[in-house]
Amino acid sequence: MEFTIFDHIYDSVLVYDKKGIVIYCNEAFSALSGVSPNRMIGKMDLSKAFAEIEGNPILVKDFVAHHEPTNTRVIRYKTRAVADGLAQFSIMPLVKDQEKLFIFVLRDLSVEEELHKKYRREMTLKDKKIEQMNSLIQLLQKTRLVKEPIKILEEFLKHILFEYSLPAAFIRDGEGQVYRVLEKIPSGYAASMNAMALEIEKMKPIEKYIYFEKESLEKLNFSNLQHVHSLLGVPVKPNSKAKFEIFIPVPTVDHAQSLDQDRISTLSQQMAMMIDNMTLEKLSIVDDLTKLYNARYFREKLDEYTVKYPVLSMILADIDHFKLINDTYGHPGGDTVLQRIGSILKQAVESENRENVVSRVGGEEFSILLPHKSPQEAAVLAEEIAEIIRAEIIPYGTKQIKLTMSFGVSAWSPGQISVRDFYTRTDQALYYSKRNGRNRITRFEEIPT
Ligand code: GH3
Ligand code: MG
Ligand code: MG
Repeated sequence: MEFTIFDHIYDSVLVYDKKGIVIYCNEAFSALSGVSPNRMIGKMDLSKAFAEIEGNPILVKDFVAHHEPTNTRVIRYKTRAVADGLAQFSIMPLVKDQEKLFIFVLRDLSVEEELHKKYRREMTLKDKKIEQMNSLIQLLQKTRLVKEPIKILEEFLKHILFEYSLPAAFIRDGEGQVYRVLEKIPSGYAASMNAMALEIEKMKPIEKYIYFEKESLEKLNFSNLQHVHSLLGVPVKPNSKAKFEIFIPVPTVDHAQSLDQDRISTLSQQMAMMIDNMTLEKLSIVDDLTKLYNARYFREKLDEYTVKYPVLSMILADIDHFKLINDTYGHPGGDTVLQRIGSILKQAVESENRENVVSRVGGEEFSILLPHKSPQEAAVLAEEIAEIIRAEIIPYGTKQIKLTMSFGVSAWSPGQISVRDFYTRTDQALYYSKRNGRNRITRFEEIPT
């Protein structure tokens, strides 16, 4: 006997005769009942075919036993593989070559229910993600300290690691240097981290978002590394020359399933945009000649630090008789001096504390902000700088230029003075140094009233 049944992927189909002998059974039914079609067709009666299925199918069995056609109805069922199945089933008569057959169809609704649930879950997640993404970007934009692209990426990755409970990530810059970003490193992970960093250093550049699974990892020499289930690689491409790639090792299958690759990809595009913005902004906060920060940036930092640091000192420094230098060596000679002084200041100030800020606020005038420093401590640093400059011989063509600088120092006192007063006081101290022979340091408190 031959007939054709158009199977639907979610439908379990069984055809039986009036003695209850199975004539046809599809893959889905066999999966549902746990019995292979070969063992069922022509051999098995229905009670065996349904033996594996618990719950409402008892009802089904009754129907089947009575060889009754049924109306379509929805049932919940359970098998070894399916904990809580939801299905629509019906039994229909089928007459073939005058023989009366029955066709049993069970359409799995749980699949659709799952899809539906998943869809709803995805929609809410999507909303939540947009929110999270915005808050992350706002956070980064607020963090004025984040001025290096690599720092932006670091912040971004820390956020991702935290969100997905991942231990570590890597950033590779345009020169191929690999930076590590760490969250909580499980014990035994550290050695793998080192090996991973080395492997990532050797990897070919990735042009687009890549997810390396087992086989590609083997090619990459990652396979012998513990704790790596897969590896996510995302390029971050700002318009500027800077180019980065980020790599996130995924330790387990669970992590892999929770990781939202689209979101990471979108975020990396956002990061690229932010890096572009930062680069632009950076152009307008740096002084061309000396490469120190400019007055605009100084004002921003002054506002920021006076809110952030209750203990804060300021130094203003001015080159003595700079006009004379210009007059003697010409304007280009003066420029050379400014550049050299700029790099001396940068070196002395920034090496002392990463948060110290040195800017060129005027022609030959510089300002220094020193968080956590008393004016006495600031004066000590100013004296060190003054000494370096006294000893410095600046070559200019065949000539050698020597010079000195004058300094003023004052302390921030929150609630007592305004930000403007803070600057004026420091300027008054500098002015005092100038009037009293130059080449010296004055603290505001030292000025006689
Ligand atoms: P004092 O010891 O009192 O500070 O005397 P000074 O000559 O250093 O001070 P003054 O303010 O009279 O002169 C500053 C000079 O700096 C005037 C200006 O032409 C020059 N200057 C300002 N900006 C630049 C620059 O970018 N390059 C050069 N070469 N000179 C500059
Ligand atoms: Mg001067
Ligand atoms: Mg001046």
